[in-house]
Amino acid sequence: MDTNVVIVGAGPAGLAVAACLKKAGQDFVILEKAAEIAPSWRRHYRRLHLHTVKSFSSLPFVPFPKSHPRYVPREKVVAYLDAYAQRFGLKPHFGVTVKSIRREGDRLQVETDAGPFSASKVIVATGNNAQPVMPGFPGIEAFKGEVLHSSAYTQAAPYAGKDVLVVGMGNTGAEIALDLADSGARPTMSLRKGVHIVPRQLFGVPIQMVGIASRTMPRALNDWMFPKILDLALGRLEKYGIVRPKQGILAQIEAGRIPVIDVGTVAAIKAGRIGIAPDIASFTGHGVTFADGVEKKFDAAIFATGYRPGYDGFLPAELRPEKSGVNPRARQLGVYLVGFYNPVTGLLREIGIEAQAVAKDIAGRG
Ligand SMILES: Cc1cc2nc3c(=O)[nH]c(=O)nc-3n(C[C@H](O)[C@H](O)[C@H](O)COP(=O)(O)OP(=O)(O)OC[C@H]3O[C@@H](n4cnc5c(N)ncnc54)[C@H](O)[C@@H]3O)c2cc1C
Repeated sequence: MDTNVVIVGAGPAGLAVAACLKKAGQDFVILEKAAEIAPSWRRHYRRLHLHTVKSFSSLPFVPFPKSHPRYVPREKVVAYLDAYAQRFGLKPHFGVTVKSIRREGDRLQVETDAGPFSASKVIVATGNNAQPVMPGFPGIEAFKGEVLHSSAYTQAAPYAGKDVLVVGMGNTGAEIALDLADSGARPTMSLRKGVHIVPRQLFGVPIQMVGIASRTMPRALNDWMFPKILDLALGRLEKYGIVRPKQGILAQIEAGRIPVIDVGTVAAIKAGRIGIAPDIASFTGHGVTFADGVEKKFDAAIFATGYRPGYDGFLPAELRPEKSGVNPRARQLGVYLVGFYNPVTGLLREIGIEAQAVAKDIAGRG
């Protein structure tokens, strides 16, 4: 099939860029390997609410409804995305997996399991959180408990009364540990290194807005000031085994590591409802030996160890732009990434900004 633009992925990024292209009068097709739009949001754990405020998390042209809470629950995000696709008449080709992309003259050939597509531009919107990362640990094969990645975790009920190891304290690990603690399980979070934690609201102001405002401040001032403010807001967490990394929050974000936005995990740690442990030295048949030599039994281990971006398998190095959004290499290649830069101000907000810029760039260049 010949088209102007192929969009790969029908998550928030693919939908946002499609809506912007539609408004700009551009032809496109959306290829989505799943059977419906936004499959990742349908799969996420049930407790999930957006960590970012709704006013800075909606896609272009369509704010979240006024009646929605400030932090929108997962099922309402799914309904919003369904309505978004409907509003712009977006009809992805479902069940189509992109296998490879290559240049042929002035066209890009997109090979899929449903046949080839030819386009002058390709937008890769396959997600920054696409492929679950499961690090190897010595002895993991011997562990008799359940082992799963956080992407397969949906709810805490099956773990009530059980000792559960949560490996990693990112936003997902922190919230799953809280979910477990609230549902009668006994979670322990293992931390390999230091972590920055910020409250979801800092003295009543959503942290996302604080992040937006603080971007104009010099880095050194940010790095000096924030630890003091966060100690005031959350208390000193070293005594619970949580240390702050030497690298400041902004430097970490630039390196791709966003801080944990606390939705109640810190209070549960302080109350002793969530245990904190150091790195894992090895798994045993029935549990884990931690780096400090302490052994503990566990019934399950949930790896909240993050994701890899989702284009490694089909986008060759010679067709990769240097970064997400509009940039000289993307223009030259005709291949744009949308949704692969996660700033302090939130990925969904950034997706909206990138989608509009990319659509404008494509429309302006014919
Ligand atoms: C648990 C969790 C909570 C989050 N909470 C927030 C939040 O509160 N605020 C915020 O701003 N951000 C949040 N994010 C980050 C981000 O906004 C989401 O991950 C969001 O879904 C990204 O949208 P996307 O379209 O880029 O990627 P995805 O939603 O992952 O969509 C990518 C799509 O591409 C498809 N695809 C992949 N490979 C192929 C292929 N080869 N061929 C065809 N289709 C393919 C996938 O099936 C998928 O539908 C969260 C992320 C996670 C994991």
